[in-house]
Amino acid sequence: MRDKANGVVDKESAADKQSAGDEGLIKAQEKIAVLRCETVSEVCAGAGCFKAFNARRLHFASTPKDAELIGFFTCGGCSGRRVSRLVKSLQKSGLTTIHLSSCMLMAVEYPRCPHLAEIKETISKLGIKIVEGTHH
Ligand code: SF4
Repeated sequence: MRDKANGVVDKESAADKQSAGDEGLIKAQEKIAVLRCETVSEVCAGAGCFKAFNARRLHFASTPKDAELIGFFTCGGCSGRRVSRLVKSLQKSGLTTIHLSSCMLMAVEYPRCPHLAEIKETISKLGIKIVEGTHH
């Protein structure tokens, strides 16, 4: 949106209006990313996470219909070295919520993540809501 007084363009408002259509009334309420285990990503393509999101099932059951999935990334390996950098990057796209993938939280099929507490703290400090789990 252009501010006539000083000619400044508010790109976010303009983008919101554009994506919302002519009325400019509909705006995505939540922008979600899934964070998953780097080790498990070698054997999992992520279909379960996407199916659960698309169907708004299990840990996405309370996700609004107009929410967008804007990211799907791994921690970068122990001890989650990539988390801070990629969360900050996604914040530029309006990230509101991180779902920790079920593989990060399980202790039976996969080894439990020993760095979970630090990873959660890193995300929380950036002001992003955390939801534990995706499809299990
Ligand atoms: S830090 Fe946790 S989630 Fe990341 S690779 Fe290690 S065990 Fe997996």
